[in-house]
Amino acid sequence: EDKKTNHNRTYDQSEAYYREACEYIVGGVNSPSRSYKAVGGGTPVFIKRAEGAYLWDVDGNRYIDYLGAFGPIITGHAHPHITQAIAEQAAKGTLYGTPTPLEVKFAKMLREAIPSLEKIRFVNSGTEAVMTTIRVARAYTNRTKIIKFAGCYHGHSDLVLVAAGSGPSTLGIPDSAGIPHSIAQEVITVPFNDLASFEEAITTWGEEVAAVLVEPIVGNFGIVMPEPGFLEEVHRLAHQKGALIIYDEVITAFRFTYGGAQNILQLEPDMTAMGKIIGGGTPIGAYGGKKAIMEQVAPLGPAYQAGTMAGNPLSLAAGIACLEVLQEKGTYAYLDRLGQKLEEGIHQLAQQFSIPVTINRFKGALTVYFGVDQVKNYEDAAKSDDRLFATFFKGMLKQGINLAPSKYEAWFLTIRHTDQDVEDTLQAVANTFKTLAA
Ligand code: PLP
Repeated sequence: EDKKTNHNRTYDQSEAYYREACEYIVGGVNSPSRSYKAVGGGTPVFIKRAEGAYLWDVDGNRYIDYLGAFGPIITGHAHPHITQAIAEQAAKGTLYGTPTPLEVKFAKMLREAIPSLEKIRFVNSGTEAVMTTIRVARAYTNRTKIIKFAGCYHGHSDLVLVAAGSGPSTLGIPDSAGIPHSIAQEVITVPFNDLASFEEAITTWGEEVAAVLVEPIVGNFGIVMPEPGFLEEVHRLAHQKGALIIYDEVITAFRFTYGGAQNILQLEPDMTAMGKIIGGGTPIGAYGGKKAIMEQVAPLGPAYQAGTMAGNPLSLAAGIACLEVLQEKGTYAYLDRLGQKLEEGIHQLAQQFSIPVTINRFKGALTVYFGVDQVKNYEDAAKSDDRLFATFFKGMLKQGINLAPSKYEAWFLTIRHTDQDVEDTLQAVANTFKTLAA
Protein backbone atom coordinates (compact mmCIF):
# COMPACT_ATOMS: atom_id res chain seq x y z
CA GLU A 1 0.00 0.00 0.00
CA ASP A 2 2.85 2.38 0.84
CA LYS A 3 4.11 2.03 -2.71
CA LYS A 4 0.96 3.50 -4.22
CA THR A 5 1.91 6.57 -6.19
CA ASN A 6 -0.24 8.25 -8.81
CA HIS A 7 -2.89 5.78 -9.80
CA ASN A 8 -6.29 5.58 -8.16
CA ARG A 9 -5.70 8.16 -5.51
CA THR A 10 -8.56 8.05 -3.07
CA TYR A 11 -8.97 9.99 0.14
CA ASP A 12 -11.67 8.02 1.97
CA GLN A 13 -9.62 7.53 5.13
CA SER A 14 -8.54 11.19 5.29
CA GLU A 15 -12.17 12.21 4.86
CA ALA A 16 -13.28 9.89 7.66
CA TYR A 17 -10.54 11.17 9.99
CA TYR A 18 -11.35 14.76 9.14
CA ARG A 19 -15.04 14.26 9.95
CA GLU A 20 -14.06 12.74 13.28
CA ALA A 21 -11.40 15.39 13.95
CA CYS A 22 -14.01 18.10 13.45
CA GLU A 23 -16.08 16.47 16.20
CA TYR A 24 -13.30 16.79 18.77
CA ILE A 25 -10.73 19.33 17.61
CA VAL A 26 -11.76 22.84 16.87
CA GLY A 27 -11.90 23.25 13.10
CA GLY A 28 -10.47 19.72 12.79
CA VAL A 29 -6.89 21.06 12.92
CA ASN A 30 -4.37 22.15 15.53
CA SER A 31 -3.14 25.16 13.58
CA PRO A 32 -5.38 27.09 11.17
CA SER A 33 -2.92 27.03 8.28
CA ARG A 34 -3.25 23.22 8.15
CA SER A 35 -6.85 23.54 7.03
CA TYR A 36 -7.46 24.12 3.33
CA LYS A 37 -9.42 27.30 4.02
CA ALA A 38 -6.94 29.46 2.09
CA VAL A 39 -7.25 27.21 -0.96
CA GLY A 40 -11.04 27.15 -1.17
CA GLY A 41 -11.69 24.42 1.41
CA GLY A 42 -11.64 20.64 1.23
CA THR A 43 -10.32 17.80 3.30
CA PRO A 44 -6.71 18.14 4.43
CA VAL A 45 -4.74 14.92 3.93
CA PHE A 46 -4.00 13.05 7.16
CA ILE A 47 -0.41 11.84 7.23
CA LYS A 48 0.66 8.70 8.99
CA ARG A 49 4.31 8.40 8.06
CA ALA A 50 7.17 10.39 6.56
CA GLU A 51 10.66 9.56 5.43
CA GLY A 52 13.18 11.62 3.52
CA ALA A 53 11.39 13.81 0.98
CA TYR A 54 8.15 11.80 1.17
CA LEU A 55 4.91 11.70 3.13
CA TRP A 56 2.36 8.88 3.11
CA ASP A 57 -1.24 9.58 3.98
CA VAL A 58 -3.74 7.31 5.72
CA ASP A 59 -5.07 6.15 2.32
CA GLY A 60 -1.59 5.02 1.25
CA ASN A 61 -0.97 7.90 -1.17
CA ARG A 62 2.63 9.07 -1.41
CA TYR A 63 3.61 12.73 -1.68
CA ILE A 64 6.84 14.53 -2.50
CA ASP A 65 6.84 17.05 0.33
CA TYR A 66 7.65 20.74 -0.10
CA LEU A 67 5.71 21.90 2.96
CA GLY A 68 8.56 20.80 5.21
CA ALA A 69 6.19 21.17 8.17
CA PHE A 70 6.14 24.94 7.46
CA GLY A 71 9.92 25.19 7.66
CA PRO A 72 11.56 22.99 10.31
CA ILE A 73 12.28 20.05 8.01
CA ILE A 74 15.53 20.59 6.11
CA THR A 75 17.31 17.26 6.60
CA GLY A 76 14.28 15.37 5.29
CA HIS A 77 11.83 13.49 7.47
CA ALA A 78 13.07 10.90 9.97
CA HIS A 79 16.73 11.52 9.22
CA PRO A 80 18.52 8.50 10.74
CA HIS A 81 21.03 10.64 12.66
CA ILE A 82 18.27 12.70 14.27
CA THR A 83 16.02 9.70 14.90
CA GLN A 84 18.88 7.93 16.64
CA ALA A 85 19.69 10.98 18.78
CA ILE A 86 16.06 11.25 19.89
CA ALA A 87 15.81 7.54 20.68
CA GLU A 88 19.05 7.53 22.65
CA GLN A 89 18.00 10.57 24.64
CA ALA A 90 14.49 9.20 25.27
CA ALA A 91 16.06 6.13 26.85
CA LYS A 92 17.96 8.42 29.22
CA GLY A 93 14.88 10.41 30.21
CA THR A 94 13.00 13.19 28.50
CA LEU A 95 12.93 15.91 31.15
CA TYR A 96 14.89 16.60 34.30
CA GLY A 97 14.04 20.17 35.32
CA THR A 98 17.76 20.77 35.87
CA PRO A 99 20.57 22.14 33.74
CA THR A 100 22.10 19.59 31.34
CA PRO A 101 25.35 19.26 29.38
CA LEU A 102 23.24 19.19 26.19
CA GLU A 103 22.11 22.78 26.57
CA VAL A 104 25.68 23.96 27.06
CA LYS A 105 26.77 22.11 23.93
CA PHE A 106 23.88 23.43 21.85
CA ALA A 107 24.19 27.05 23.04
CA LYS A 108 27.88 26.91 22.12
CA MET A 109 27.09 25.51 18.66
CA LEU A 110 24.56 28.28 18.06
CA ARG A 111 26.90 31.06 19.15
CA GLU A 112 29.69 29.68 17.00
CA ALA A 113 27.34 29.75 14.02
CA ILE A 114 25.71 33.11 14.82
CA PRO A 115 28.17 35.31 16.75
CA SER A 116 25.60 37.98 17.75
CA LEU A 117 24.06 35.38 20.10
CA GLU A 118 26.40 36.31 22.93
CA LYS A 119 23.88 34.88 25.42
CA ILE A 120 21.06 32.47 24.63
CA ARG A 121 17.92 31.10 26.26
CA PHE A 122 15.99 28.07 25.01
CA VAL A 123 12.20 28.13 24.93
CA ASN A 124 9.57 25.95 23.23
CA SER A 125 8.35 27.74 20.13
CA GLY A 126 9.01 30.62 17.81
CA THR A 127 6.08 32.46 19.35
CA GLU A 128 7.68 32.31 22.79
CA ALA A 129 11.07 33.34 21.46
CA VAL A 130 9.74 36.47 19.74
CA MET A 131 7.44 37.33 22.65
CA THR A 132 10.38 37.27 25.02
CA THR A 133 12.70 39.34 22.85
CA ILE A 134 10.05 42.05 22.97
CA ARG A 135 9.83 41.89 26.75
CA VAL A 136 13.60 42.03 27.08
CA ALA A 137 13.87 44.94 24.64
CA ARG A 138 11.25 46.82 26.62
CA ALA A 139 13.06 46.10 29.86
CA TYR A 140 16.40 47.21 28.44
CA THR A 141 15.18 50.41 26.80
CA ASN A 142 12.45 51.25 29.30
CA ARG A 143 10.20 51.98 26.30
CA THR A 144 7.07 50.20 25.06
CA LYS A 145 6.46 50.61 21.33
CA ILE A 146 7.44 48.14 18.61
CA ILE A 147 7.72 48.73 14.88
CA LYS A 148 7.15 45.72 12.64
CA PHE A 149 6.55 45.10 8.94
CA ALA A 150 3.27 44.26 7.24
CA GLY A 151 2.82 40.60 6.35
CA CYS A 152 5.68 39.39 8.52
CA TYR A 153 4.42 36.77 10.97
CA HIS A 154 5.95 36.61 14.41
CA GLY A 155 3.83 33.99 16.14
CA HIS A 156 0.48 34.29 17.86
CA SER A 157 1.24 36.35 20.97
CA ASP A 158 -0.95 39.40 21.60
CA LEU A 159 2.08 41.61 21.07
CA VAL A 160 2.43 40.88 17.37
CA LEU A 161 -1.04 39.90 16.10
CA VAL A 162 -1.48 43.50 15.17
CA ALA A 163 -2.47 44.96 11.81
CA ALA A 164 -1.43 48.30 10.40
CA GLY A 165 -3.44 51.39 11.12
CA SER A 166 -4.05 53.80 8.25
CA GLY A 167 -0.41 54.79 7.71
CA PRO A 168 3.12 54.75 9.14
CA SER A 169 2.35 57.42 11.70
CA THR A 170 -0.75 55.68 13.06
CA LEU A 171 -0.90 53.00 15.75
CA GLY A 172 -1.90 49.41 15.13
CA ILE A 173 -5.24 47.66 15.48
CA PRO A 174 -5.90 44.10 16.75
CA ASP A 175 -5.50 41.45 14.04
CA SER A 176 -7.44 38.87 16.05
CA ALA A 177 -10.42 38.91 18.32
CA GLY A 178 -9.40 38.81 21.96
CA ILE A 179 -6.51 41.25 21.71
CA PRO A 180 -6.93 44.47 23.67
CA HIS A 181 -6.82 47.65 21.66
CA SER A 182 -4.37 49.01 24.22
CA ILE A 183 -1.81 46.30 23.31
CA ALA A 184 -2.25 46.83 19.57
CA GLN A 185 -1.63 50.52 20.16
CA GLU A 186 1.91 49.70 21.19
CA VAL A 187 2.72 48.42 17.69
CA ILE A 188 3.29 50.32 14.47
CA THR A 189 3.26 48.34 11.22
CA VAL A 190 4.90 49.60 8.03
CA PRO A 191 5.43 48.07 4.57
CA PHE A 192 8.58 45.97 4.07
CA ASN A 193 11.20 47.41 1.69
CA ASP A 194 9.64 50.88 2.09
CA LEU A 195 12.26 53.09 3.67
CA ALA A 196 10.20 56.30 3.52
CA SER A 197 7.40 54.70 5.55
CA PHE A 198 9.84 53.30 8.07
CA GLU A 199 11.52 56.67 8.42
CA GLU A 200 8.14 58.33 8.99
CA ALA A 201 7.25 55.78 11.68
CA ILE A 202 10.53 55.96 13.56
CA THR A 203 10.53 59.76 13.36
CA THR A 204 6.93 60.00 14.58
CA TRP A 205 7.35 57.60 17.51
CA GLY A 206 11.05 58.24 18.09
CA GLU A 207 12.00 57.81 21.71
CA GLU A 208 8.97 55.62 22.50
CA VAL A 209 10.23 52.78 20.28
CA ALA A 210 11.80 49.88 22.18
CA ALA A 211 12.57 47.76 19.13
CA VAL A 212 12.14 47.18 15.45
CA LEU A 213 11.13 43.59 14.74
CA VAL A 214 11.86 42.20 11.30
CA GLU A 215 12.22 38.99 9.32
CA PRO A 216 15.57 39.87 7.68
CA ILE A 217 14.70 37.64 4.73
CA VAL A 218 10.93 37.32 4.69
CA GLY A 219 9.32 33.91 4.71
CA ASN A 220 5.74 34.79 5.54
CA PHE A 221 4.45 36.45 2.41
CA GLY A 222 6.56 34.12 0.40
CA ILE A 223 10.31 34.44 0.13
CA VAL A 224 11.16 38.13 -0.16
CA MET A 225 14.66 39.57 0.03
CA PRO A 226 15.37 42.95 1.56
CA GLU A 227 16.32 45.46 -1.12
CA PRO A 228 19.98 46.51 -1.07
CA GLY A 229 20.54 49.01 1.72
CA PHE A 230 17.05 48.68 3.22
CA LEU A 231 17.98 46.85 6.40
CA GLU A 232 21.19 48.86 6.78
CA GLU A 233 19.07 52.03 6.91
CA VAL A 234 16.57 50.43 9.27
CA HIS A 235 19.45 49.59 11.61
CA ARG A 236 20.94 53.08 11.36
CA LEU A 237 17.68 54.97 11.92
CA ALA A 238 16.54 52.69 14.74
CA HIS A 239 19.84 52.94 16.59
CA GLN A 240 19.92 56.69 16.09
CA LYS A 241 16.66 56.82 18.09
CA GLY A 242 17.92 54.37 20.71
CA ALA A 243 15.67 51.51 19.55
CA LEU A 244 16.93 47.92 19.34
CA ILE A 245 16.87 45.71 16.26
CA ILE A 246 15.31 42.26 16.69
CA TYR A 247 15.68 39.73 13.89
CA ASP A 248 13.01 37.08 13.71
CA GLU A 249 15.04 34.22 12.27
CA VAL A 250 12.49 31.54 13.15
CA ILE A 251 12.34 30.51 9.48
CA THR A 252 15.71 31.76 8.27
CA ALA A 253 18.12 30.38 10.89
CA PHE A 254 20.00 27.49 9.22
CA ARG A 255 17.67 27.55 6.19
CA PHE A 256 20.02 29.32 3.77
CA THR A 257 23.44 28.83 5.33
CA TYR A 258 24.95 27.29 8.44
CA GLY A 259 23.93 30.31 10.51
CA GLY A 260 21.29 33.01 10.16
CA ALA A 261 20.20 35.41 7.45
CA GLN A 262 22.34 37.86 9.43
CA ASN A 263 25.47 35.92 8.41
CA ILE A 264 24.50 36.24 4.76
CA LEU A 265 23.48 39.90 4.99
CA GLN A 266 26.48 40.69 7.20
CA LEU A 267 24.36 42.63 9.66
CA GLU A 268 24.27 42.23 13.44
CA PRO A 269 20.94 42.60 15.20
CA ASP A 270 20.80 43.34 18.92
CA MET A 271 18.60 40.30 19.50
CA THR A 272 17.52 37.26 17.49
CA ALA A 273 14.56 34.89 17.82
CA MET A 274 14.80 31.37 16.42
CA GLY A 275 12.77 28.16 16.22
CA LYS A 276 11.81 25.59 13.58
CA ILE A 277 15.02 24.08 12.08
CA ILE A 278 17.01 24.32 15.32
CA GLY A 279 14.67 21.72 16.85
CA GLY A 280 15.34 19.15 14.13
CA GLY A 281 11.58 18.57 13.83
CA THR A 282 10.77 18.75 17.55
CA PRO A 283 9.29 21.71 19.49
CA ILE A 284 11.82 24.42 20.21
CA GLY A 285 12.49 28.12 20.27
CA ALA A 286 15.51 30.13 21.30
CA TYR A 287 16.35 33.76 21.69
CA GLY A 288 19.58 35.54 22.30
CA GLY A 289 21.63 38.61 21.65
CA LYS A 290 24.07 41.09 23.06
CA LYS A 291 25.29 40.27 26.54
CA ALA A 292 24.26 43.58 28.14
CA ILE A 293 20.74 43.23 26.77
CA MET A 294 20.31 39.56 27.62
CA GLU A 295 21.45 40.22 31.17
CA GLN A 296 18.04 41.84 31.69
CA VAL A 297 16.66 38.28 31.88
CA ALA A 298 15.99 36.55 35.23
CA PRO A 299 17.81 35.30 37.28
CA LEU A 300 20.37 38.00 36.37
CA GLY A 301 17.94 40.81 35.66
CA PRO A 302 14.40 42.09 36.21
CA ALA A 303 12.77 40.66 33.02
CA TYR A 304 11.08 37.38 33.86
CA GLN A 305 10.96 34.40 31.51
CA ALA A 306 10.74 30.73 32.42
CA GLY A 307 9.60 27.32 31.15
CA THR A 308 9.06 23.82 32.49
CA MET A 309 9.85 22.36 29.06
CA ALA A 310 12.49 24.96 28.12
CA GLY A 311 15.70 23.29 27.00
CA ASN A 312 14.12 19.85 27.21
CA PRO A 313 16.70 17.17 26.39
CA LEU A 314 14.70 15.60 23.54
CA SER A 315 14.50 18.82 21.55
CA LEU A 316 18.12 19.66 22.24
CA ALA A 317 19.32 16.20 21.19
CA ALA A 318 17.30 16.52 17.98
CA GLY A 319 18.53 20.07 17.37
CA ILE A 320 22.19 19.18 17.89
CA ALA A 321 21.85 16.18 15.57
CA CYS A 322 20.14 18.33 12.95
CA LEU A 323 22.93 20.91 13.00
CA GLU A 324 25.51 18.13 12.80
CA VAL A 325 23.87 16.92 9.60
CA LEU A 326 23.77 20.46 8.21
CA GLN A 327 27.51 20.88 8.90
CA GLU A 328 28.28 18.31 6.23
CA LYS A 329 30.12 19.86 3.31
CA GLY A 330 27.98 20.88 0.35
CA THR A 331 24.63 20.98 2.19
CA TYR A 332 23.62 24.48 1.18
CA ALA A 333 25.12 24.30 -2.31
CA TYR A 334 22.99 21.19 -2.89
CA LEU A 335 19.80 22.91 -1.71
CA ASP A 336 20.63 25.90 -3.92
CA ARG A 337 21.22 23.72 -6.97
CA LEU A 338 17.93 21.86 -6.58
CA GLY A 339 16.15 25.15 -5.90
CA GLN A 340 17.55 26.60 -9.10
CA LYS A 341 16.51 23.53 -11.09
CA LEU A 342 12.97 23.80 -9.71
CA GLU A 343 12.77 27.54 -10.36
CA GLU A 344 14.08 27.28 -13.92
CA GLY A 345 11.82 24.34 -14.68
CA ILE A 346 8.69 26.09 -13.40
CA HIS A 347 9.60 29.26 -15.32
CA GLN A 348 10.03 27.37 -18.54
CA LEU A 349 6.70 25.55 -18.13
CA ALA A 350 4.94 28.80 -17.21
CA GLN A 351 6.17 30.30 -20.49
CA GLN A 352 5.22 27.21 -22.46
CA PHE A 353 1.65 27.24 -21.13
CA SER A 354 1.36 31.06 -20.81
CA ILE A 355 0.74 30.97 -17.06
CA PRO A 356 1.62 34.31 -15.45
CA VAL A 357 3.97 33.52 -12.57
CA THR A 358 6.63 35.32 -10.57
CA ILE A 359 9.06 33.14 -8.65
CA ASN A 360 10.95 34.47 -5.66
CA ARG A 361 13.70 32.10 -4.66
CA PHE A 362 16.60 32.17 -2.29
CA LYS A 363 18.70 29.00 -2.18
CA GLY A 364 16.48 26.02 -1.32
CA ALA A 365 13.28 28.00 -0.65
CA LEU A 366 10.97 29.56 -3.20
CA THR A 367 7.48 30.92 -3.72
CA VAL A 368 5.47 30.80 -6.92
CA TYR A 369 3.09 33.76 -7.18
CA PHE A 370 0.38 33.78 -9.84
CA GLY A 371 -0.72 36.84 -11.78
CA VAL A 372 1.76 39.43 -10.46
CA ASP A 373 4.95 40.84 -12.00
CA GLN A 374 7.00 41.30 -8.86
CA VAL A 375 6.68 40.78 -5.12
CA LYS A 376 8.73 42.95 -2.81
CA ASN A 377 6.24 43.54 -0.01
CA TYR A 378 3.02 42.13 1.45
CA GLU A 379 0.77 44.28 -0.73
CA ASP A 380 2.31 42.77 -3.88
CA ALA A 381 1.88 39.23 -2.51
CA ALA A 382 -1.72 39.93 -1.52
CA LYS A 383 -2.51 40.91 -5.11
CA SER A 384 -1.44 37.50 -6.42
CA ASP A 385 -4.24 35.31 -7.74
CA ASP A 386 -5.99 33.23 -5.03
CA ARG A 387 -8.06 31.20 -7.45
CA LEU A 388 -5.17 30.22 -9.71
CA PHE A 389 -3.07 29.29 -6.70
CA ALA A 390 -5.88 27.19 -5.20
CA THR A 391 -6.37 25.31 -8.47
CA PHE A 392 -2.62 24.80 -8.80
CA PHE A 393 -2.33 23.55 -5.21
CA LYS A 394 -5.12 21.01 -5.65
CA GLY A 395 -3.80 19.87 -9.04
CA MET A 396 -0.38 19.25 -7.53
CA LEU A 397 -1.81 17.44 -4.49
CA LYS A 398 -3.73 15.06 -6.75
CA GLN A 399 -0.45 14.18 -8.44
CA GLY A 400 1.34 13.51 -5.20
CA ILE A 401 3.03 16.85 -4.57
CA ASN A 402 2.40 18.36 -1.14
CA LEU A 403 2.71 22.15 -1.13
CA ALA A 404 1.80 24.55 1.66
CA PRO A 405 -1.93 25.30 1.37
CA SER A 406 -1.52 29.07 1.06
CA LYS A 407 -0.27 31.45 -1.60
CA TYR A 408 1.80 33.20 1.06
CA GLU A 409 4.00 30.24 1.95
CA ALA A 410 7.26 28.91 0.56
CA TRP A 411 8.31 25.61 -0.95
CA PHE A 412 11.10 24.16 1.17
CA LEU A 413 13.64 21.74 -0.24
CA THR A 414 15.45 19.23 1.93
CA ILE A 415 18.76 17.46 1.51
CA ARG A 416 16.80 14.27 0.86
CA HIS A 417 15.06 15.62 -2.28
CA THR A 418 16.76 14.23 -5.39
CA ASP A 419 17.05 15.38 -9.00
CA GLN A 420 14.49 12.72 -9.83
CA ASP A 421 12.06 14.18 -7.26
CA VAL A 422 12.45 17.61 -8.84
CA GLU A 423 11.92 16.15 -12.32
CA ASP A 424 8.79 14.30 -11.13
CA THR A 425 7.58 17.55 -9.56
CA LEU A 426 8.13 19.45 -12.82
CA GLN A 427 6.11 16.80 -14.67
CA ALA A 428 3.26 17.42 -12.22
CA VAL A 429 3.66 21.18 -12.73
CA ALA A 430 3.43 20.66 -16.50
CA ASN A 431 0.26 18.60 -16.15
CA THR A 432 -1.28 21.15 -13.80
CA PHE A 433 -0.33 24.15 -15.97
CA LYS A 434 -1.84 22.37 -18.96
CA THR A 435 -5.21 22.15 -17.21
CA LEU A 436 -4.90 25.76 -15.97
CA ALA A 437 -4.23 26.93 -19.53
CA ALA A 438 -7.16 24.97 -20.97
N1 PLP B 1 8.31 33.87 13.48
C1 PLP B 1 8.28 33.47 12.21
C2 PLP B 1 9.09 34.22 11.19
C3 PLP B 1 7.51 32.37 11.83
O1 PLP B 1 7.45 32.00 10.55
C4 PLP B 1 6.78 31.68 12.83
C5 PLP B 1 5.95 30.50 12.50
O2 PLP B 1 5.60 30.26 11.36
C6 PLP B 1 6.86 32.12 14.16
C7 PLP B 1 7.64 33.22 14.44
C8 PLP B 1 6.14 31.42 15.25
O3 PLP B 1 6.75 30.20 15.52
P1 PLP B 1 5.93 28.99 16.22
O4 PLP B 1 4.89 28.57 15.23
O5 PLP B 1 6.99 27.96 16.48
O6 PLP B 1 5.36 29.53 17.47
